[in-house]
Amino acid sequence: MCERHRLLLATHNEHKTQEIRDLILLEGLPYDVVSLHEMGDDEEIEETGTTIRENSMIKAQTCHQRHHMDCFADDTGLEVVALDGRPGVYTARYAGPECRPEDNIRKLLHEIDGVEDRSAVFRTVITLILDDQQHCFEGEVRGVITETPQGEGGFGYDPVFRPEGFDRTFAEMSEEEKNRISHRGRATEALIHFLRSL
Ligand code: IMP
Repeated sequence: MCERHRLLLATHNEHKTQEIRDLILLEGLPYDVVSLHEMGDDEEIEETGTTIRENSMIKAQTCHQRHHMDCFADDTGLEVVALDGRPGVYTARYAGPECRPEDNIRKLLHEIDGVEDRSAVFRTVITLILDDQQHCFEGEVRGVITETPQGEGGFGYDPVFRPEGFDRTFAEMSEEEKNRISHRGRATEALIHFLRSL
């Protein structure tokens, strides 16, 4: 039987942990994903980077320093062309520190009200630290910000993000359909491809 390895995911989000744990299991890879909470670590990690990539690396490196084990982290941002790439690293807290997703959406729609070019990119960077070596995997999806929210599914900005080549927003897709084309889905695919090649 092949040896299994533990991989610590730098997140306090149990939904995210379960999602990636399932994907890795489904692929039959010999990794057991554990979350920070499962390690008894409930301390916040400060995201002080100026790019999605930097924040992804900061999270993975902080975890590695704290727990001395193989780990990985993901970070996602929405970059709107008409806003010169904002909200970017501020995607989660665009409308303020404790804001709700609907507050972020309202602010975004207000800022690009009447703007013709509504194109945007969702970008995820996953940083893996394995055997003390750092690797980054990126996934992106291009699309447009709709005029009004559409759909009930998903989370975050899903109701106002319509990926290129589709006539529905992420919130109007099944989880499976979204994961196949999403920024996070693509970055995860690249991570899995790498783990498979070892
Ligand atoms: P995080 O880096 O995964 O925590 O993502 C930062 C923020 O980006 C989240 O709080 C959401 O507002 C937004 N976000 C990330 N992924 C998605 C997605 O797949 N759909 C919509 N919004 C997302």
